[in-house]
Amino acid sequence: QKPIPHAQCETVQQAVEKGEIRDVPQGWLDHAGYLDNGGYGLLQRCVSGEVDVESVLKTMENSGLRGLGGAGFPAGRKWRIVRNEKGPRLMAINIDEGEPGTFKDRTYLETDPHRFLEGMLIAAWAVGIEDIYIYLRDEYHGCREILTRELAALQANAPIANMPKIELRRGAGAYICGEESAMIESIEGKRGMPRLRPPYVAQVGLFNRPTLEHNFETLYWVRDILEKGADWFTSHGRNGRKGLRSYSVSGRVKNPGVKLAPAGVTIQELIDEFCGGMQDGHSFYAYLPGGASGGILPATMNNIPLDFDTLQPHGCFIGSAAVMVLSDQDTAVDAARNTMRFFADESCGQCTPCRVGTAKALTLIEKPEWDLPLLADLSQVMRDASICGLGQAAPNPVDCVVRYFPHELTGTTK
Ligand code: SF4
Repeated sequence: QKPIPHAQCETVQQAVEKGEIRDVPQGWLDHAGYLDNGGYGLLQRCVSGEVDVESVLKTMENSGLRGLGGAGFPAGRKWRIVRNEKGPRLMAINIDEGEPGTFKDRTYLETDPHRFLEGMLIAAWAVGIEDIYIYLRDEYHGCREILTRELAALQANAPIANMPKIELRRGAGAYICGEESAMIESIEGKRGMPRLRPPYVAQVGLFNRPTLEHNFETLYWVRDILEKGADWFTSHGRNGRKGLRSYSVSGRVKNPGVKLAPAGVTIQELIDEFCGGMQDGHSFYAYLPGGASGGILPATMNNIPLDFDTLQPHGCFIGSAAVMVLSDQDTAVDAARNTMRFFADESCGQCTPCRVGTAKALTLIEKPEWDLPLLADLSQVMRDASICGLGQAAPNPVDCVVRYFPHELTGTTK
């Protein structure tokens, strides 16, 4: 894949400036193109002392930027916590983008990789990081090629003296390694299994050192936020929410893809304004707001702001904002079976509630008639006793079917 001439490549930032929040641009900026667009200037101003660490931490905190891998921990607060830990400190970057339906990190990486790399180096400077490990999903062959080439270009033309050591690590195809502590185990050369916490990764992380762990997209926004200010980021948003979100939209819409939209848009706004409506011959029936783990909601609940914390009362969550749209030609039961098959396959096997629970739940929901009391007990045990989010969230789609789509279980009309 060749970079297109950078003059033709509009960055996300430029699109937002023009008020055209829309699909992310095609083509990608290489190192030379990024430099021509003022790239690495902010990093240089930081390192030269023109910008001080405290003002950077404050801007990040005031922007309200939250971890965009799914957990949603406030990024600025995380920087301060790790910075207050005794060094040496490390950084681990999660590009093991494995949540079904999520493809935003890949899209941005293929579009503007240096915006992420500059954000990464600014975070490393602000927090005092010595070594950086980037963990890339191994199925992303094209991304690996781009990242390898662009990292080499960056290191050959280092924008600052004393760059931290940067290592690119390949994942091995395990969904669970998208969980931060499992990823750290994997980087350390062990089997990728989540750790019990506390201690938290910020205190005892990679190689037992305090570790700043971030998703790719969280770092991608650092340059824009610091250059334009926290108010610029929070000036976006809808339905009482603040900021921008990259929704990976798939399913029965006319124009699927990564949609950069105000945080808090509803599913109906997303479909109508950003995706060109439903495909011909399909009417909106249901949606999965947060990939395989985030539950399933009916089309009648089309007015909930899609953001962190807004879906919990409905038994769902947004996670990494992978929105899958189902039509009248789909069923929620099929979607729940599909997701449970995935979780049973991807359970790391460390704890019984998840290892046995996902397999048992799958057996129960593959039957034509569901044993609802038994499923309810099983869901409760998985939620309460699983070590990590995989086992805790795996029952979400099943519980949603029982709660919102009982007609599918009784064979009555939708
Ligand atoms: Fe592994 Fe599942 Fe337990 Fe998480 S909940 S540690 S994935 S067995």
